[in-house]
Formats: sequence, structure tokens, C-alpha cells
Amino acid sequence: MLRLDGLNKFFGGLPALQDVCMSVPAGQLTALIGPNGAGKSTLINCMTGVLSPTSGSIRFMDQEIAGLPAHRITRLGIHRTFQNLRLFPRLSVLDNVLTGLTREGGESMFMAMLRLPYLRHRERRLRLRALEAMDQFGLADKAGWPAGVLAYGDKKRVELARAIVGRPKLLLLDEPVAGLNAEETAAVGEQLRNLRRAGHTILLVEHDMDLVMNIADLVVVLDSGCCIATGTADEVRRNPLVLEAYLGR
Ligand code: ADP
Ligand code: MG
Repeated sequence: MLRLDGLNKFFGGLPALQDVCMSVPAGQLTALIGPNGAGKSTLINCMTGVLSPTSGSIRFMDQEIAGLPAHRITRLGIHRTFQNLRLFPRLSVLDNVLTGLTREGGESMFMAMLRLPYLRHRERRLRLRALEAMDQFGLADKAGWPAGVLAYGDKKRVELARAIVGRPKLLLLDEPVAGLNAEETAAVGEQLRNLRRAGHTILLVEHDMDLVMNIADLVVVLDSGCCIATGTADEVRRNPLVLEAYLGR
């Protein structure tokens, strides 16, 4: 579904990504792991148009997307969460999740006046979809709460619900369990497994190797901006380069 070829990203003169080649197969959960500073967030930011790669190719379903602006990439069906929370604290949980559907809006005022009954019907349909997405992450009973008052773990789940509500073709998750306790991490792990079972294509970024080991179909390891290993969880776990990247410093 997604293929990167020879991707480079420099900040000033410093390389954050060097000649990265990797694929994300359709219908699978791919994990991108690596120590802090390896370049994982930079990679996701290049895939989603938040950053423009210095050189190289990113093909999404046979279309070149490297350097496209973020809103165009979102519209093609790549949705994401951010490593640091990006919610609207005063908006309700429901409204936060609904912002994941904005690309489906865009009616002009004139069209809106002409098609009011149609719009009302559509609004109901979208709210229903948002409620379904919240339900998948155990948030349905908090729909009316301002997002700002939620516990940290619930905020992370609101981000997940917002990322899936638009039914993305590819879902990119940047450390969705960072800062969660063991119990919350296990719950999110199970929810990610459910998404995978429902047919979602997921790229999960995580620096904790243990979490991804029982949920990933494929694991890609990044270290100092370079892709150092690709394989099943067991293959990667036994790879001496990976052990060195994690333990050797
Ligand atoms: P990870 O997500 O794997 O922890 P990052 O992609 O955040 O790693 O960072 C990779 C490297 O790029 C780090 O050395 C970081 O300091 C650097 N970096 C990331 N973003 C920027 C930026 N906007 N400007 C300069 N350097 C950056
Ligand atoms: Mg990161």
C-alpha cells in the first residue's frame, strides 16, 4: 500500500533519515520501532506531508506523494495521530472526533441552503459514525465531556477515535501508548488488534519493542535515521544489529 524508496531528510546539515526503504503491506499491522531520536516521527511526518523529504520517493497506492501538502495526503486516505496530544480542550469529545471528518464537509453556504434536509440527514449520519468510533475505544459515555478534563489515557484514545472515524485507507499511529500505564497499554494493544482484524492497514510507531512483538505482522527497525532490519517480530528480536541498537549504548 505504501512504499518508501531512498528517502532522505536533513535538518540543516544533519541527516535525520538516510536512504530509508520500506513497505507497508495492505491489511497488516506494521510496526516501526527504534530508540529515541531514530527518526520515527520524522518518517511519519514525511509520509503525511507535515515535513517535505529532502529527496526520495513515497508511493501510496501507485501515486507519488512525497512533498504533497498534508491536506491532500489526508484526502487520499492517510490519517494519523501525533506523538504529542493535539486535541481541542474546550470542545466535547464528540466534536473532537468529528474534526476527523472535516474533509467530508466543505459545502458552500449556498449549497447548504438549497440542501438543508439532505444536510441534516448527513449530519446525523456523521454523528453516528463518530459515536461508533468512540465506542470502539470505550469513550461513548464521555461524548459530551470537554476533552480537556479527560484523563491522559482517555485523551490518547480520543486521538485514535478521531484518526479512524474518517475510515482511512492507511492509519499511522505515533506512539499511541506513550505515557500509559501497563493496564491501559494492554487495552490499547487489544483495540489495535481489533482494528487489524477489521481489515485496517496500520503503521504503528513505538519505541517499546515488547509492546509490538505480539501484535505486529511485520517489524521495521530504524536506528540513527537508517533502516537496520525488517522481518517478523521473532526475526527482528534475534537480529544482532537490533540488539546493539537497543542495548549497546
Ligand atoms: P524519534 O521519533 O524516532 O524519537 P525524531 O524523528 O523525532 O525521532 O528525531 C530524529 C532526529 O531528528 C533527532 O536527532 C531529532 O533531534 C532531529 N529532529 C527532529 N525534528 C527536527 C526538527 N524539526 N529540526 C531539527 N531537528 C529535528
Ligand atoms: Mg517520535
